[in-house]
Amino acid sequence: MEFNFKSNSAYSYMKYGGYQGKYKGKEYYMVPNPEASINIRDLYDMFSKMDSILVDLLNMGRICIDAEDDQTKFTCAYFFVEKYGLLGFMVEAPTNPDFLLNEEVTLKENNFINKNCVMKTKDYFDLFFPFANNDEMSYTVTNGKVEIETNSDLQRMLNRTSINDQLIYSSFYCEKIDWIIEYAKKMYKIFKKYVDLANNSMDDYDEYKAREIINDYYFSGIPYKINMYGNIPEISWQPNSLKQAIDMAFGFMLCSEKNPLKICKHCGKVFYAKNPKAEYDSSKCRNQANVYKSRNKNKAE
Ligand SMILES: [Zn+2]
Repeated sequence: MEFNFKSNSAYSYMKYGGYQGKYKGKEYYMVPNPEASINIRDLYDMFSKMDSILVDLLNMGRICIDAEDDQTKFTCAYFFVEKYGLLGFMVEAPTNPDFLLNEEVTLKENNFINKNCVMKTKDYFDLFFPFANNDEMSYTVTNGKVEIETNSDLQRMLNRTSINDQLIYSSFYCEKIDWIIEYAKKMYKIFKKYVDLANNSMDDYDEYKAREIINDYYFSGIPYKINMYGNIPEISWQPNSLKQAIDMAFGFMLCSEKNPLKICKHCGKVFYAKNPKAEYDSSKCRNQANVYKSRNKNKAE
C-alpha cells in the first residue's frame, strides 16, 4: 500500500511571521513575535511540506544529540519553528482532547512535557502561557463548555476557531526549546537505527537494541474524515497539531517500500532522495567521498 500525502486534502497549519527565544527562570522558551513581520500569521499546507519538515526535524535531532548547549539548541529550534511554527504539544500530549473540562489532565506516557503523567489542568495551562497574565490569557468552564478569556485583539481574532486552535495559535502560546529538541532527538534516534539495520552494520547485540528502540515507538493515532466530493472517497486527516501530523507521516514514510529519506554516507545529514539510488546529499559530498576512496585505494597499493 503506497501513501501519498499530497493526494490527500490540504490541511492548513498556522505559524507566526517571527519567533524569539525567551527565558523564564532557567527555562528557555520559543515565543511568537507578532511584530517581526508584516504577515502576523501565515497559513500553509502541512502535508505538502511534509518531506522537508521531516528532513529538518531529523537533522535538528542529529545535531542536538552531540551538542547540549543552549545556543545550539536555540538555533536549531528557531530554524525549524520559523519555517513551520510551533509543534502544538499542548493539545497533542493529553489523552483526552477535551482536557480543559476536567480538574486534572492526563498525559500520554511518552510525552515530552512532564514525566508525571497527571497534572492539575490549571498548572498545565500555565505551562504553555508563561509570559501572559490572567487578563491576556485564561479560560473558564461553564456548563461543560470551555471559553478562552482575553483582553487581546489578536487573541480575539481566533474566537471563531476551535478551542484547540485558540490555544496553539495564540500569540501567547509558547513551547520549551527542550521539548522540541527532545522530540527531534527521539525521532532521529529511531530513524538512525532503521538506517543502521538496513545497512547491516551492527553486531547482534546492537541489532537487538536497535529493533527494541524502533518497536517501542508508539503513536496513538490521528482523527480523520472521509471526503466524498466526487465518486471516489478520500481520506482527509484531521491532525490537531503539527506534531500529530509529523508522527503519522514519519511512520508511513519509514514503513513505505520507497522510503525516500536517507542519511548521507559522507556527512551524515538526513536528506530527501529524489533518486532512490542516491547515497549522498550533495555533489560536494559525493566528490569528497570519491577523493577519500581513491586515496585509501592508493595507500593500499
Ligand atoms: Zn553529505
